[in-house]
Amino acid sequence: MTVTTAATDRRICTPLPVLGRDVLVPLVTGGTVPYAALDYAASAPALQRVWDDIAAYAPYYGSVHRGAGYLSQLSTDLFEQSRDTVADFLGCRDGDQVIFTRSTTDSLNLLAAVVPAGTHVFVFETEHHASLLPWRTRDDVRVTVLSAPRTPEQAVAVLDVALHGAAKGPKLVCVTGASNVTGELWPVRELAAAAHRHGARIVLDAAQLAPHHPVDVAALDVDWVAFSGHKLYAPFGSGVLAGRADWLREAEPYLAGGGASRKVARRADGGVDVEWHTTAARHEAGSPNVIGVYAIASACKALTEAGFGELVDREQQLLARLRAGLAEVPEVRVLSLFGDDAPRVGVLSFVVSGWNSSHFAAALSAEYGIGVRDGLFCAHPLVRTLLGGESDDPGECGAPEAAPGERSLNAIRVSFGAGTPEEHIDRFLTAVRTLVREGA
Ligand code: PLP
Repeated sequence: MTVTTAATDRRICTPLPVLGRDVLVPLVTGGTVPYAALDYAASAPALQRVWDDIAAYAPYYGSVHRGAGYLSQLSTDLFEQSRDTVADFLGCRDGDQVIFTRSTTDSLNLLAAVVPAGTHVFVFETEHHASLLPWRTRDDVRVTVLSAPRTPEQAVAVLDVALHGAAKGPKLVCVTGASNVTGELWPVRELAAAAHRHGARIVLDAAQLAPHHPVDVAALDVDWVAFSGHKLYAPFGSGVLAGRADWLREAEPYLAGGGASRKVARRADGGVDVEWHTTAARHEAGSPNVIGVYAIASACKALTEAGFGELVDREQQLLARLRAGLAEVPEVRVLSLFGDDAPRVGVLSFVVSGWNSSHFAAALSAEYGIGVRDGLFCAHPLVRTLLGGESDDPGECGAPEAAPGERSLNAIRVSFGAGTPEEHIDRFLTAVRTLVREGA
Protein backbone atom coordinates (compact mmCIF):
# COMPACT_ATOMS: atom_id res chain seq x y z
CA MET A 1 0.00 0.00 0.00
CA THR A 2 1.53 3.28 -1.01
CA VAL A 3 1.37 6.30 1.21
CA THR A 4 -0.58 9.02 -0.56
CA THR A 5 -1.21 12.18 1.44
CA ALA A 6 1.28 15.02 1.69
CA ALA A 7 1.22 14.75 5.46
CA THR A 8 2.34 11.11 5.29
CA ASP A 9 5.27 11.89 3.01
CA ARG A 10 7.92 11.06 5.61
CA ARG A 11 10.75 8.58 5.78
CA ILE A 12 9.13 6.11 8.12
CA CYS A 13 5.36 6.13 8.17
CA THR A 14 3.09 3.25 8.99
CA PRO A 15 1.02 2.38 5.90
CA LEU A 16 -2.69 3.08 5.33
CA PRO A 17 -3.65 6.76 5.36
CA VAL A 18 -5.94 7.85 8.18
CA LEU A 19 -8.26 10.81 8.65
CA GLY A 20 -7.39 13.91 10.63
CA ARG A 21 -3.76 14.14 9.60
CA ASP A 22 -4.05 17.72 8.40
CA VAL A 23 -6.13 19.09 11.26
CA LEU A 24 -4.45 22.24 12.56
CA VAL A 25 -4.53 22.83 16.30
CA PRO A 26 -3.76 26.13 18.06
CA LEU A 27 -0.72 26.33 20.33
CA VAL A 28 -0.49 28.46 23.49
CA THR A 29 2.72 29.85 22.12
CA GLY A 30 0.80 31.17 19.08
CA GLY A 31 0.28 29.74 15.63
CA THR A 32 -0.99 26.31 14.70
CA VAL A 33 0.50 22.91 14.05
CA PRO A 34 -0.90 19.72 12.45
CA TYR A 35 -2.36 17.55 15.19
CA ALA A 36 -0.18 14.60 16.21
CA ALA A 37 -2.59 11.85 17.25
CA LEU A 38 -0.66 9.66 19.67
CA ASP A 39 -3.64 8.26 21.48
CA TYR A 40 -4.61 5.39 19.19
CA ALA A 41 -5.10 3.05 22.14
CA ALA A 42 -8.11 5.12 23.24
CA SER A 43 -9.58 5.55 19.75
CA ALA A 44 -7.66 5.30 16.50
CA PRO A 45 -8.38 7.70 13.66
CA ALA A 46 -10.53 6.16 10.95
CA LEU A 47 -8.76 4.87 7.87
CA GLN A 48 -9.38 6.99 4.80
CA ARG A 49 -10.49 3.80 3.06
CA VAL A 50 -13.12 3.13 5.75
CA TRP A 51 -14.44 6.66 5.43
CA ASP A 52 -14.61 6.34 1.64
CA ASP A 53 -16.47 3.03 1.94
CA ILE A 54 -18.99 4.61 4.31
CA ALA A 55 -19.51 7.55 1.95
CA ALA A 56 -20.03 5.17 -0.97
CA TYR A 57 -22.55 3.14 1.02
CA ALA A 58 -24.45 6.12 2.49
CA PRO A 59 -26.99 6.50 -0.38
CA TYR A 60 -27.91 2.82 -0.08
CA TYR A 61 -28.44 2.88 3.66
CA GLY A 62 -31.60 1.06 4.79
CA SER A 63 -33.09 -0.95 7.64
CA VAL A 64 -31.72 -4.47 7.96
CA HIS A 65 -33.68 -7.69 8.49
CA ARG A 66 -36.91 -5.73 8.42
CA GLY A 67 -37.72 -4.09 5.09
CA ALA A 68 -38.96 -5.61 1.85
CA GLY A 69 -37.55 -2.74 -0.23
CA TYR A 70 -34.48 -2.90 -2.41
CA LEU A 71 -32.29 -0.83 -0.07
CA SER A 72 -33.31 -2.90 2.94
CA GLN A 73 -32.40 -6.06 1.08
CA LEU A 74 -29.11 -4.56 -0.03
CA SER A 75 -28.30 -3.38 3.49
CA THR A 76 -29.23 -6.76 4.94
CA ASP A 77 -26.89 -8.46 2.47
CA LEU A 78 -24.06 -6.07 3.33
CA PHE A 79 -24.73 -6.50 7.05
CA GLU A 80 -24.54 -10.29 6.83
CA GLN A 81 -21.52 -10.14 4.50
CA SER A 82 -19.85 -8.01 7.17
CA ARG A 83 -20.26 -10.92 9.57
CA ASP A 84 -18.41 -13.18 7.11
CA THR A 85 -15.69 -10.56 6.61
CA VAL A 86 -15.13 -10.31 10.37
CA ALA A 87 -15.14 -14.11 10.72
CA ASP A 88 -12.43 -14.31 8.01
CA PHE A 89 -10.44 -11.49 9.62
CA LEU A 90 -10.46 -13.35 12.93
CA GLY A 91 -9.81 -16.80 11.49
CA CYS A 92 -12.98 -18.18 13.04
CA ARG A 93 -13.80 -21.90 12.97
CA ASP A 94 -16.85 -23.41 11.28
CA GLY A 95 -19.80 -22.98 13.59
CA ASP A 96 -18.39 -19.96 15.43
CA GLN A 97 -20.80 -17.06 15.83
CA VAL A 98 -19.96 -13.43 15.14
CA ILE A 99 -22.14 -11.11 17.21
CA PHE A 100 -22.14 -7.38 16.62
CA THR A 101 -22.07 -5.34 19.81
CA ARG A 102 -21.30 -1.75 20.77
CA SER A 103 -17.72 -2.30 21.93
CA THR A 104 -15.30 -4.67 23.66
CA THR A 105 -16.90 -3.72 26.97
CA ASP A 106 -20.30 -4.65 25.59
CA SER A 107 -18.95 -7.91 24.12
CA LEU A 108 -17.43 -9.03 27.42
CA ASN A 109 -20.57 -8.07 29.32
CA LEU A 110 -22.53 -10.13 26.82
CA LEU A 111 -20.28 -13.12 27.46
CA ALA A 112 -20.58 -12.55 31.22
CA ALA A 113 -24.36 -12.64 30.83
CA VAL A 114 -24.34 -16.00 29.03
CA VAL A 115 -21.76 -18.06 30.96
CA PRO A 116 -23.50 -20.99 32.68
CA ALA A 117 -24.51 -20.59 36.31
CA GLY A 118 -21.70 -21.73 38.60
CA THR A 119 -18.92 -20.81 36.15
CA HIS A 120 -15.59 -20.07 37.81
CA VAL A 121 -13.90 -17.14 36.04
CA PHE A 122 -10.13 -16.54 36.23
CA VAL A 123 -8.76 -13.16 35.36
CA PHE A 124 -5.44 -11.42 36.03
CA GLU A 125 -5.50 -8.22 38.08
CA THR A 126 -3.59 -6.60 35.22
CA GLU A 127 -6.62 -6.57 32.93
CA HIS A 128 -8.44 -3.54 31.61
CA HIS A 129 -11.60 -2.98 33.63
CA ALA A 130 -13.63 -4.18 30.65
CA SER A 131 -12.14 -7.65 31.18
CA LEU A 132 -11.82 -7.46 34.95
CA LEU A 133 -15.28 -6.33 35.97
CA PRO A 134 -18.15 -7.78 33.85
CA TRP A 135 -18.09 -11.14 35.69
CA ARG A 136 -19.06 -9.36 38.90
CA THR A 137 -22.49 -8.62 37.45
CA ARG A 138 -23.42 -12.28 38.04
CA ASP A 139 -24.22 -13.49 41.57
CA ASP A 140 -23.97 -17.12 40.43
CA VAL A 141 -20.44 -16.78 38.99
CA ARG A 142 -17.27 -17.06 41.05
CA VAL A 143 -14.34 -14.83 40.13
CA THR A 144 -10.71 -15.48 41.03
CA VAL A 145 -8.39 -12.54 40.41
CA LEU A 146 -4.83 -13.70 39.79
CA SER A 147 -1.83 -11.60 40.88
CA ALA A 148 0.22 -9.71 38.30
CA PRO A 149 2.86 -12.02 36.79
CA ARG A 150 6.30 -10.54 36.02
CA THR A 151 7.02 -12.75 32.99
CA PRO A 152 4.83 -14.38 30.34
CA GLU A 153 6.00 -17.79 31.61
CA GLN A 154 4.91 -16.86 35.11
CA ALA A 155 1.48 -15.90 33.76
CA VAL A 156 1.05 -19.40 32.34
CA ALA A 157 2.37 -21.04 35.51
CA VAL A 158 0.08 -18.97 37.77
CA LEU A 159 -2.95 -19.84 35.65
CA ASP A 160 -1.96 -23.49 35.55
CA VAL A 161 -1.79 -23.72 39.34
CA ALA A 162 -5.06 -21.82 39.81
CA LEU A 163 -6.94 -24.02 37.36
CA HIS A 164 -5.39 -27.17 38.79
CA GLY A 165 -6.84 -26.31 42.20
CA ALA A 166 -10.28 -25.39 40.88
CA ALA A 167 -13.35 -27.54 41.48
CA LYS A 168 -15.17 -29.35 38.68
CA GLY A 169 -17.66 -27.32 36.66
CA PRO A 170 -17.54 -24.71 33.91
CA LYS A 171 -14.48 -22.48 33.99
CA LEU A 172 -13.55 -19.44 31.92
CA VAL A 173 -10.26 -17.54 31.62
CA CYS A 174 -10.34 -13.96 30.38
CA VAL A 175 -7.09 -12.47 29.15
CA THR A 176 -5.92 -9.50 27.13
CA GLY A 177 -3.81 -10.01 24.00
CA ALA A 178 -1.86 -6.74 24.26
CA SER A 179 -1.85 -4.48 27.31
CA ASN A 180 -3.46 -1.08 26.90
CA VAL A 181 -0.91 0.24 29.42
CA THR A 182 2.43 -1.29 28.47
CA GLY A 183 1.67 -2.58 24.97
CA GLU A 184 3.19 -5.89 26.03
CA LEU A 185 1.93 -9.03 24.34
CA TRP A 186 0.51 -11.77 26.52
CA PRO A 187 1.22 -15.44 25.79
CA VAL A 188 -2.28 -16.11 24.51
CA ARG A 189 -1.61 -19.43 22.82
CA GLU A 190 0.10 -20.82 25.92
CA LEU A 191 -2.63 -19.51 28.22
CA ALA A 192 -5.26 -21.07 25.95
CA ALA A 193 -3.40 -24.39 26.08
CA ALA A 194 -3.27 -24.20 29.90
CA ALA A 195 -6.97 -23.36 30.05
CA HIS A 196 -7.94 -26.25 27.82
CA ARG A 197 -5.67 -28.67 29.68
CA HIS A 198 -7.86 -28.07 32.69
CA GLY A 199 -11.17 -28.11 30.83
CA ALA A 200 -11.57 -24.33 31.00
CA ARG A 201 -12.52 -22.02 28.17
CA ILE A 202 -10.80 -18.78 27.32
CA VAL A 203 -11.88 -15.42 25.94
CA LEU A 204 -9.34 -13.09 24.39
CA ASP A 205 -9.72 -9.35 24.88
CA ALA A 206 -8.24 -8.24 21.56
CA ALA A 207 -9.14 -4.55 21.87
CA GLN A 208 -5.45 -3.59 21.65
CA LEU A 209 -4.16 -6.65 19.82
CA ALA A 210 -6.43 -6.66 16.77
CA PRO A 211 -5.36 -3.20 15.49
CA HIS A 212 -1.67 -4.20 15.57
CA HIS A 213 -1.48 -7.93 14.89
CA PRO A 214 -3.40 -10.58 13.02
CA VAL A 215 -5.70 -12.47 15.40
CA ASP A 216 -6.30 -16.08 14.47
CA VAL A 217 -8.95 -17.58 16.71
CA ALA A 218 -8.39 -21.11 15.42
CA ALA A 219 -4.58 -20.99 15.58
CA LEU A 220 -4.54 -19.36 19.02
CA ASP A 221 -7.22 -21.84 20.05
CA VAL A 222 -9.21 -19.29 22.02
CA ASP A 223 -12.92 -19.89 22.52
CA TRP A 224 -14.02 -16.27 22.07
CA VAL A 225 -12.51 -13.00 21.04
CA ALA A 226 -13.76 -9.45 21.62
CA PHE A 227 -12.68 -6.19 20.01
CA SER A 228 -13.90 -2.64 19.29
CA GLY A 229 -14.32 -0.92 15.94
CA HIS A 230 -13.12 2.48 17.14
CA LYS A 231 -9.69 1.09 18.04
CA LEU A 232 -9.50 -0.77 14.72
CA TYR A 233 -9.65 2.37 12.56
CA ALA A 234 -13.44 2.33 12.17
CA PRO A 235 -15.53 5.14 13.60
CA PHE A 236 -18.82 4.68 15.47
CA GLY A 237 -19.96 2.48 18.30
CA SER A 238 -19.53 -1.02 16.99
CA GLY A 239 -17.78 -4.06 18.44
CA VAL A 240 -17.57 -7.80 18.04
CA LEU A 241 -17.84 -10.93 20.14
CA ALA A 242 -16.94 -14.01 18.11
CA GLY A 243 -16.50 -17.64 19.03
CA ARG A 244 -18.13 -20.82 20.27
CA ALA A 245 -21.85 -20.94 19.67
CA ASP A 246 -22.96 -23.32 22.45
CA TRP A 247 -23.01 -21.06 25.52
CA LEU A 248 -24.37 -18.25 23.38
CA ARG A 249 -27.15 -20.41 21.98
CA GLU A 250 -28.15 -21.91 25.31
CA ALA A 251 -28.39 -18.68 27.34
CA GLU A 252 -31.19 -16.18 27.56
CA PRO A 253 -30.76 -13.31 25.07
CA TYR A 254 -28.47 -10.51 26.22
CA LEU A 255 -31.11 -8.03 25.11
CA ALA A 256 -34.75 -9.05 24.77
CA GLY A 257 -36.71 -7.57 21.90
CA GLY A 258 -37.43 -7.58 18.19
CA GLY A 259 -34.90 -9.34 15.99
CA ALA A 260 -33.86 -11.77 18.75
CA SER A 261 -37.18 -13.59 18.72
CA ARG A 262 -38.39 -16.02 16.06
CA LYS A 263 -41.92 -16.41 17.34
CA VAL A 264 -43.88 -14.64 20.05
CA ALA A 265 -47.38 -15.79 21.02
CA ARG A 266 -49.87 -14.68 23.62
CA ARG A 267 -50.83 -17.48 26.03
CA ALA A 268 -54.34 -18.11 27.22
CA ASP A 269 -53.23 -17.35 30.78
CA GLY A 270 -52.18 -13.87 29.75
CA GLY A 271 -48.45 -14.62 29.50
CA VAL A 272 -46.26 -14.63 26.40
CA ASP A 273 -44.38 -17.55 24.87
CA VAL A 274 -41.18 -16.66 23.05
CA GLU A 275 -39.04 -18.76 20.74
CA TRP A 276 -35.63 -17.10 20.49
CA HIS A 277 -33.26 -17.33 17.55
CA THR A 278 -30.32 -19.68 18.01
CA THR A 279 -28.10 -17.66 15.65
CA ALA A 280 -26.15 -14.46 16.44
CA ALA A 281 -29.47 -12.59 16.13
CA ARG A 282 -30.40 -14.03 19.56
CA HIS A 283 -28.15 -11.44 21.20
CA GLU A 284 -28.66 -8.58 18.74
CA ALA A 285 -32.18 -7.41 19.58
CA GLY A 286 -33.24 -4.00 18.29
CA SER A 287 -32.19 -2.12 15.16
CA PRO A 288 -28.45 -2.61 14.79
CA ASN A 289 -25.73 -0.06 14.12
CA VAL A 290 -25.65 -0.78 10.39
CA ILE A 291 -23.06 1.83 9.47
CA GLY A 292 -20.86 0.87 12.41
CA VAL A 293 -20.92 -2.78 11.39
CA TYR A 294 -20.19 -1.89 7.77
CA ALA A 295 -17.28 0.28 8.97
CA ILE A 296 -15.80 -2.55 11.06
CA ALA A 297 -15.95 -4.89 8.06
CA SER A 298 -14.35 -2.23 5.87
CA ALA A 299 -11.50 -1.81 8.37
CA CYS A 300 -11.00 -5.59 8.55
CA LYS A 301 -10.77 -5.74 4.75
CA ALA A 302 -8.41 -2.76 4.55
CA LEU A 303 -6.03 -4.24 7.12
CA THR A 304 -6.10 -7.65 5.50
CA GLU A 305 -5.52 -6.26 2.01
CA ALA A 306 -2.74 -3.90 3.11
CA GLY A 307 -1.10 -6.80 4.89
CA PHE A 308 -0.31 -6.76 8.56
CA GLY A 309 3.33 -7.53 7.80
CA GLU A 310 4.18 -4.05 6.57
CA LEU A 311 2.06 -2.41 9.24
CA VAL A 312 3.80 -4.34 12.01
CA ASP A 313 7.27 -3.66 10.57
CA ARG A 314 6.71 0.08 10.36
CA GLU A 315 5.10 0.22 13.77
CA GLN A 316 8.02 -1.67 15.31
CA GLN A 317 10.49 0.76 13.68
CA LEU A 318 8.62 3.69 15.18
CA LEU A 319 8.42 1.94 18.52
CA ALA A 320 12.17 1.31 18.53
CA ARG A 321 12.75 4.98 17.69
CA LEU A 322 10.43 6.07 20.47
CA ARG A 323 11.96 3.77 23.08
CA ALA A 324 15.52 4.70 22.11
CA GLY A 325 14.64 8.40 22.37
CA LEU A 326 13.01 8.02 25.77
CA ALA A 327 15.91 5.92 27.04
CA GLU A 328 18.13 8.99 26.58
CA VAL A 329 16.06 10.97 29.07
CA PRO A 330 16.98 9.75 32.57
CA GLU A 331 13.96 11.49 34.12
CA VAL A 332 11.61 9.25 32.11
CA ARG A 333 10.59 5.86 33.45
CA VAL A 334 8.81 3.59 30.98
CA LEU A 335 6.34 1.24 32.66
CA SER A 336 6.77 -2.46 31.98
CA LEU A 337 5.49 -5.66 33.51
CA PHE A 338 7.50 -8.18 31.51
CA GLY A 339 10.72 -6.20 31.03
CA ASP A 340 12.52 -4.39 28.21
CA ASP A 341 12.81 -7.37 25.90
CA ALA A 342 9.13 -8.31 25.93
CA PRO A 343 7.44 -8.14 22.53
CA ARG A 344 4.98 -5.25 22.42
CA VAL A 345 2.77 -3.14 20.17
CA GLY A 346 2.81 0.61 19.66
CA VAL A 347 1.48 1.47 23.12
CA LEU A 348 3.78 2.78 25.85
CA SER A 349 3.21 4.41 29.24
CA PHE A 350 5.70 6.38 31.28
CA VAL A 351 6.17 8.79 34.15
CA VAL A 352 8.53 11.75 34.35
CA SER A 353 10.20 12.47 37.66
CA GLY A 354 9.36 15.90 39.00
CA TRP A 355 6.27 16.10 36.81
CA ASN A 356 2.62 15.45 37.43
CA SER A 357 1.55 13.30 34.47
CA SER A 358 -1.63 15.28 33.83
CA HIS A 359 0.34 18.49 33.57
CA PHE A 360 2.88 16.87 31.31
CA ALA A 361 0.15 15.59 28.98
CA ALA A 362 -1.52 19.01 29.00
CA ALA A 363 1.78 20.67 28.05
CA LEU A 364 2.30 18.21 25.17
CA SER A 365 -1.09 19.27 23.83
CA ALA A 366 -0.94 23.00 24.48
CA GLU A 367 2.67 23.59 23.41
CA TYR A 368 3.22 20.91 20.75
CA GLY A 369 -0.21 19.89 19.42
CA ILE A 370 0.36 16.31 20.55
CA GLY A 371 -2.58 14.25 21.80
CA VAL A 372 -1.67 11.59 24.39
CA ARG A 373 -3.59 10.17 27.34
CA ASP A 374 -2.88 10.52 31.05
CA GLY A 375 -4.47 8.64 33.92
CA LEU A 376 -4.72 5.03 35.03
CA PHE A 377 -6.15 3.87 31.69
CA CYS A 378 -9.08 1.89 33.14
CA ALA A 379 -6.52 -0.56 34.51
CA HIS A 380 -6.11 0.74 38.05
CA PRO A 381 -4.58 -2.37 39.67
CA LEU A 382 -2.00 -2.72 36.88
CA VAL A 383 -0.94 0.92 36.87
CA ARG A 384 -0.73 0.93 40.67
CA THR A 385 1.52 -2.13 40.51
CA LEU A 386 3.70 -0.52 37.86
CA LEU A 387 3.94 2.76 39.76
CA GLY A 388 4.88 0.83 42.88
CA GLY A 389 1.67 1.75 44.69
CA GLU A 390 2.28 5.46 44.14
CA SER A 391 -1.09 6.25 42.69
CA ASP A 392 -4.15 7.77 44.37
CA ASP A 393 -7.75 6.89 43.69
CA PRO A 394 -8.74 8.67 40.52
CA GLY A 395 -12.18 8.91 39.02
CA GLU A 396 -13.02 5.99 36.77
CA CYS A 397 -10.37 5.87 34.05
CA GLY A 398 -9.40 9.44 34.84
CA ALA A 399 -6.58 11.38 36.37
CA PRO A 400 -6.38 12.14 40.07
CA GLU A 401 -5.95 15.73 41.14
CA ALA A 402 -2.42 16.74 42.06
CA ALA A 403 -0.86 20.11 42.69
CA PRO A 404 1.81 21.42 40.29
CA GLY A 405 5.18 19.90 41.01
CA GLU A 406 3.78 16.96 42.97
CA ARG A 407 5.17 13.54 42.17
CA SER A 408 3.34 11.55 39.53
CA LEU A 409 0.12 9.91 40.67
CA ASN A 410 -0.69 8.45 37.32
CA ALA A 411 1.01 7.90 33.99
CA ILE A 412 1.19 9.23 30.44
CA ARG A 413 0.41 6.94 27.52
CA VAL A 414 1.57 7.35 23.95
CA SER A 415 0.12 5.05 21.30
CA PHE A 416 0.12 4.92 17.52
CA GLY A 417 -0.38 2.69 14.50
CA ALA A 418 -1.46 2.90 10.86
CA GLY A 419 -0.79 6.30 9.32
CA THR A 420 1.54 7.53 12.07
CA PRO A 421 4.46 9.43 10.53
CA GLU A 422 7.96 9.50 11.96
CA GLU A 423 7.53 13.24 12.47
CA HIS A 424 4.91 12.64 15.21
CA ILE A 425 7.33 10.46 17.16
CA ASP A 426 10.15 12.96 16.65
CA ARG A 427 8.00 15.91 17.68
CA PHE A 428 6.98 13.97 20.78
CA LEU A 429 10.60 13.19 21.69
CA THR A 430 11.64 16.81 21.18
CA ALA A 431 8.74 17.91 23.37
CA VAL A 432 9.66 15.44 26.13
CA ARG A 433 13.30 16.56 26.12
CA THR A 434 12.34 20.24 26.18
CA LEU A 435 9.70 19.93 28.89
CA VAL A 436 12.06 17.90 31.08
CA ARG A 437 14.83 20.45 30.58
CA GLU A 438 12.54 23.38 31.39
CA GLY A 439 11.02 21.58 34.41
CA ALA A 440 7.44 21.43 35.73
N1 PLP B 1 -9.83 -3.95 26.66
C1 PLP B 1 -8.73 -3.23 26.46
C2 PLP B 1 -7.40 -3.93 26.54
C3 PLP B 1 -8.82 -1.88 26.18
O1 PLP B 1 -7.72 -1.15 25.98
C4 PLP B 1 -10.09 -1.27 26.12
C5 PLP B 1 -10.22 0.19 25.88
O2 PLP B 1 -9.33 0.95 26.08
C6 PLP B 1 -11.21 -2.06 26.32
C7 PLP B 1 -11.05 -3.39 26.58
C8 PLP B 1 -12.58 -1.47 26.26
O3 PLP B 1 -12.86 -1.04 24.97
P1 PLP B 1 -14.15 -0.19 24.68
O4 PLP B 1 -14.01 1.07 25.47
O5 PLP B 1 -14.13 0.04 23.23
O6 PLP B 1 -15.30 -1.01 25.14
